[in-house]
Amino acid sequence: MNDLQKMISETGQTADQILRQFAKEQQESWPLAAANYSGLASVEEKQFDFGDFVIKVQFNPGRIRSSAAKVDTASIAERKCFLCSENLPPEQKAVSCGNQFQILMNPFPIFRSHFTIASEIHTNQLFAPNIGEMLRISKLMEGFTLFYNGPECGASAPDHLHFQAGENGFMPIDSEYEKIKSSGELLFNGGSTTIRAFENYLRKMISVESASFDEGVEAIRFFTAKFQTFQPEKTEPMLNVLCSFADGKWTIHLFPRKLHRPSQFFAEGDKQILISPASVDFGGVFILPRKEDFDKISAADIADIFDQVTVDDVVFGELKKEIKTGFRTK
Ligand SMILES: [Zn+2]
Repeated sequence: MNDLQKMISETGQTADQILRQFAKEQQESWPLAAANYSGLASVEEKQFDFGDFVIKVQFNPGRIRSSAAKVDTASIAERKCFLCSENLPPEQKAVSCGNQFQILMNPFPIFRSHFTIASEIHTNQLFAPNIGEMLRISKLMEGFTLFYNGPECGASAPDHLHFQAGENGFMPIDSEYEKIKSSGELLFNGGSTTIRAFENYLRKMISVESASFDEGVEAIRFFTAKFQTFQPEKTEPMLNVLCSFADGKWTIHLFPRKLHRPSQFFAEGDKQILISPASVDFGGVFILPRKEDFDKISAADIADIFDQVTVDDVVFGELKKEIKTGFRTK
């Protein structure tokens, strides 16, 4: 297996160039992936304007398997894990990104360059022990936004540790953040790190910016540990996370959640909207695998769905207070 870091050093190419080439080769040798990526060119999109920001909506039938994935323990136990090397289709190749993580092209794309970064070991999806890995890999994959879906927050393989990545600039948040930043509440500013909270963005969000790997990891670990105390019954607190590296610093957006799927997911008939919100939806692109949902979804539905799955004001207020009063860099 090729190693991304080694290829960057040896060829002088960027991760972006190398991974685009890898994706191109995969599409040439894997008909299913080729068909799904060329289908992406014709997916329908529209967007809703919320003033300072937008929410895009993408009709993407290929994502039905992810949106409607059965992720209960019994269903997971019955199926072969699709991220374990021995179960990968013979056409699927991998590029190593170190520390027993490998980059796979996602055959059911949302992004034009959509990768799954899977552990080489079959081990549960777990955030806290892998925060450092997220920062390390996002720096190695500069030009992409890495994301983490918690086991009850949209991951369709909650039993196999993985991140995903897509080209930076696709999700509205990538470009909106600079614009909305000043409207955030500053929770911490010290060392090489800034932490802000956002409440008027339909979804609640804590954003960490740091030029220091150690401080970035520390800040996210602090937040995750505090959030865990509000959901003690969970293996880990319910989270979606976006992480990118540019201009010498990391930007990490944390979306604390209270619910896996909104009521619309379980509704029947006209009231149903088949959506299972995950990181990409929180990044500002609602993924809808059914045409009727794409046609009927309204701005009010979007606001309502975010409201149901995001933590409530009290918990968010407590989290903000914890960071303000408790977080210090070493
Ligand atoms: Zn596995």
